[in-house]
Amino acid sequence: MALTFIFLGPPGCGKGTQAARLAEREGWVHFDMGSMLRAEIAAGGETAEEIVSYTSEGKLVPLPLIRDLVEKFFRDHAEDNVLLDGFPRSLDQAELIDEVLQRNVDAVVLFQLGEDEIRTRIIYRRFCPECGAVYNLRTNPPREDERCDNCGVRLSRREDDTEPVLLKRVRVYRQQTEPVVERYRECGLLRVVDASDDATGVEHRLKEVLGLND
Ligand code: AMP
Repeated sequence: MALTFIFLGPPGCGKGTQAARLAEREGWVHFDMGSMLRAEIAAGGETAEEIVSYTSEGKLVPLPLIRDLVEKFFRDHAEDNVLLDGFPRSLDQAELIDEVLQRNVDAVVLFQLGEDEIRTRIIYRRFCPECGAVYNLRTNPPREDERCDNCGVRLSRREDDTEPVLLKRVRVYRQQTEPVVERYRECGLLRVVDASDDATGVEHRLKEVLGLND
């Protein structure tokens, strides 16, 4: 039976970084809904405009669109161990896992982070459009002013990493994703990781709660 892990947490909690590292290390497939939606926007297909009207406002993209993407992905990965990052973000999305995908969830990790830290991580977050390296102008700046250490190109900022959109994303997280956290807590699947440390420290705690050894 293929394994299913879910990573949950507020914007900027670092779950994407941890998911990419762990999936690579364990040979799991990393399902990153936010990146998948950004790829749909970049491809400029017929749903791109609709998707951007939600992401630019920090709102959740409606269920039918999410459902299509999820179903398409799982047609190719039905037998694989998967790590779900940024999905499910609402109770109706959580139901998709049970009813449509019919997968058992093995563990859910909540990356906990306070509001001040969320703000610092998101407002100062930059990425390299060339190689994807992620920086933070406050806590992990590039060597040269806003240029990638690897490629030398000028760093970019995600369009939704602005103060007003962040406020909405945090509100959406509290209202729609926290009930998902509670659902998994109630059924005993939730493991909590303090995400305030640096990436290496958080990775260490993550492996501990998942019982994965070095
Ligand atoms: P993220 O990269 O996880 O921060 O997601 C960026 C944006 O994509 C979110 O603010 C939402 O607008 C959208 N999004 C990501 N995941 C989902 C999801 N599971 N359901 C609906 N919208 C999503």
